Order: sequence, then structure tokens, then C-alpha cells
Amino acid sequence: MHLYCHDHPETLTLETTVADARPGKVVLVESPFYPGGGGQMADRGVIRWTGGEVKVTGFEVSAGKLWHLIDAPGEVTGEVTGAVEAVVDPDFRRKMRQLHTSSHVLNALVFQQFDGALVTGVQMAEDGTARMDFDIPAADNERLRALEAPINDLIRQDIPLNFVYVPVSEAQATPGLIRSRSVAPPPTPDGKIRIVEIVGLDRQACGGTHLASTGGSVPIRLLKIDNKGRHNRRIRFGLSE
Ligand SMILES: [Zn+2]
Repeated sequence: MHLYCHDHPETLTLETTVADARPGKVVLVESPFYPGGGGQMADRGVIRWTGGEVKVTGFEVSAGKLWHLIDAPGEVTGEVTGAVEAVVDPDFRRKMRQLHTSSHVLNALVFQQFDGALVTGVQMAEDGTARMDFDIPAADNERLRALEAPINDLIRQDIPLNFVYVPVSEAQATPGLIRSRSVAPPPTPDGKIRIVEIVGLDRQACGGTHLASTGGSVPIRLLKIDNKGRHNRRIRFGLSE
């Protein structure tokens, strides 16, 4: 599914129209919301119309449609029709963009310094922390802990991000471009994969929301490193403010 937020990452308030409605959920003609996936939490926010407002509590994708689950009984859903305003919670989105972009910086350094180690899991949390699991069979956790300073250097350098689309076959044939063993972003209807590039540092397939440049993030702290099985190293990190 094509996401509006990929083309318009800065648009958090959008005048749009209800395209379909069922009790407790609606489809919008255009939606600024990120519905979650790839370890990034779904956006929160509201849908407003003349005379009311409902919270968006979640998302369902079915038959290529993005359903916004709304905190409203059926009779209220009936009012959500025609022109509406869709509003993404800006603080929540900013936090997710910072966490997500910083996770790519961490991921880039682990990939480069630990023999192309792949990601086996990632999950961001609303408290401004995240965990990433890497397949690193043998490495001293001190070496991983030492990544905090270089990560924050790369954040301070305010490196721009680019977003491009490449054919699935090309993405699969390029070593390191699909970085995760567990999560691969779904291809677009025309068979392309979205690539997120931190210029000069890293390129990898990803379907989440990111900053325009690394400097949009506050510094991060590495909080904890656990050995989860022989191959699995779990790194917890958090935004420093
Ligand atoms: Zn990403």
C-alpha cells in the first residue's frame, strides 16, 4: 500500500474526505497516519469534522484499504462523513521519527563493525526507548557499548536522509540492503522496495517514518545490552530527553 506519509512526512494535519465507513472505523481518501510496522508504533491522533472529533485508536489494512479504527460507537461513525480533518499527534510522531532514525544509525555501525550482522527484531516504545536485536554470534558487549559516542557524533553531524525506490529483484541482489531477518517492508504495487539512505553512511530497505536529517534527533543513550541466546544480542537505547 502506498502511504501518504512517505511522500509528505511533514504533513501532520490534512483536510481530506471520508471514502468509506463502518461502525467504529473509516477509510480516508488521503491519510497522513503511519499505520505501524517494521517495529515502529502506529501514529495516534484524531479525526475532526464539523461538530465533533474522535480519537484514532488503531489501524487495519484489508483489501488495500487503510481503515482507521475510531473511538466511537456506531451512531457517531455515521456522523463522520464528507470533509474531515485528519490530525496526527505531533509529539508522538516526532519521538518515533527520532527513535527510528537513530535505530538506523545504530544499525549502520553494527553492520559495518560486526561483519554485516543482521537485525533479527526491532521494537520502538512510546516512552522514547527502543530495542534492537542483532545476530552477533561472538562479540564483547563492551564493543557494542562503545558505539554510543560514534552514534551521537553521527547525529550531531546532521547527515541528510534520502528515500528512493528500487525494484524488488535489485534490492534482493544487493548485499545488506535488506537488513532485517524478520521484517521486510512490503513492495509497492509496481514491485519496488523503499530504500532509506543516510547519505554516505547507510542504505537499507525500510517503510517507516524518519527524520529529514540525523540532527533532528536528540542524542541517544545505550541503556542495556543482553545476550538473548547464542546468536541474539539485544540492545536497548533511548532518547536522552
Ligand atoms: Zn527505517
